Amino acid sequence: MKLLEERIQRDGKVFEGNVLKVDSFLNHQIDAPFIRELGREWKRLFEGEEITKILTIEASGIGIACIAALEFDVPVVFAKKTKTVNISDDVYKSQVESFTHKTVYDIIVSKEFLTSDDKILIIDDFLANGKALEGLIDLCEAAGAEVKGIGIAVEKAYQPGGDLIRSRGYRVESLARVQSMTVGGGVEFAD
Ligand code: 5GP
Repeated sequence: MKLLEERIQRDGKVFEGNVLKVDSFLNHQIDAPFIRELGREWKRLFEGEEITKILTIEASGIGIACIAALEFDVPVVFAKKTKTVNISDDVYKSQVESFTHKTVYDIIVSKEFLTSDDKILIIDDFLANGKALEGLIDLCEAAGAEVKGIGIAVEKAYQPGGDLIRSRGYRVESLARVQSMTVGGGVEFAD
C-alpha cells in the first residue's frame, strides 16, 4: 500500500536491534484518520469473507484493530499479556516470545469472547518472527474459532514470520512489506 510505504519513508525511524519505530502515527501517537485508510484497505482485501470478530494482542494492536473493526462492523477482542501463574478455567492460554523485549509471556483470552462460532480476522501492527501470530492462532485453535485471514500493517519480509504463517495455509495481507532497512539509512520495500 503506497500510502503506508510513503508514511514509513517519511516518519519511520530505524533503530539498532532491527527495530523500526513508527511512534508518530502507529505505536505511540495514533493518526486515527490515517489508520482508517489501513482499515479500509483490509476491508477491501477481505471483501466477501464472513468475519464475526477481530482478534489482536495488547498493547499496540488494539488501536489499529478498533479502527479497522469500524470498517468491518464487528467487535474487537484483544489477547491479554499476563504473568499470572494460576490461570482459571475460563480462559484459553498460549505463550509468546516477545520480539521487542526478548522475554516469554503468557497470553490469555476469555472463553466467553472467543468461541467455535467465531470467524476471525487477526490484526496486528508488525510481523517479524511470527511469534505473536502463532500465539493468537493457538488461541483460535483452542476455541475452535476459524481464522479467516490476517491483516498486518508492517511485515518485515526478511524475517521468517510471514513465510512461516503463510506456509501453514493462512492468508496474510501485509500493507507494507519491508525488504531491508538500515540504521540512519532508508527503508526498502518488497514488491
Ligand atoms: P513477531 O512476534 O512476529 O516476532 O513480532 C511481532 C510483534 O513484535 C509485534 O506485535 C510488534 O509489537 C513487535 N515488533 C516486531 N518488530 C518490530 C519493529 O520493528 N518495530 C516495532 N515497533 N515493533 C515490532
